[in-house]
Amino acid sequence: MAGEKSIFKKIIDREIPAEIVYEDELCLAFKDVNPQAPIHVLVIPKQEIQSMAHLEKEDQELAGHLVLTVGKIAEMLGLDNGYRMIVNTGTEGGQTVDHLHLHLLGGRSMQWPPG
Ligand code: C5P
Repeated sequence: MAGEKSIFKKIIDREIPAEIVYEDELCLAFKDVNPQAPIHVLVIPKQEIQSMAHLEKEDQELAGHLVLTVGKIAEMLGLDNGYRMIVNTGTEGGQTVDHLHLHLLGGRSMQWPPG
């Protein structure tokens, strides 16, 4: 992706701080600065992928890893009664940061439909 570094790339590169809860060779997970639930973590790939709509066939393993990592972190944080994973995608999907991220929300009962 050309142009200026996204805020999440700066977090990956440790140029701006974040409360990191998990990291491995493929991804990073940190607490959302504006939490919408008692637990609100973002899981992001270290690779710069703009959004879910930009995932390619060759990203299949990475995409699976990101989803499994959300589950792993939910377990790690004791979300035994359930949680919600959200991937806002594009303008109408409510995406505000152009670096793929999976929201993990938990610690309260969720409502449906979302806004
Ligand atoms: O899905 P969406 O793109 O709207 O989500 C971006 C999320 O990134 C927001 O929940 C926002 O609070 C979070 N954020 C963050 N740290 C930053 C900038 C944004 O946790 N430095």
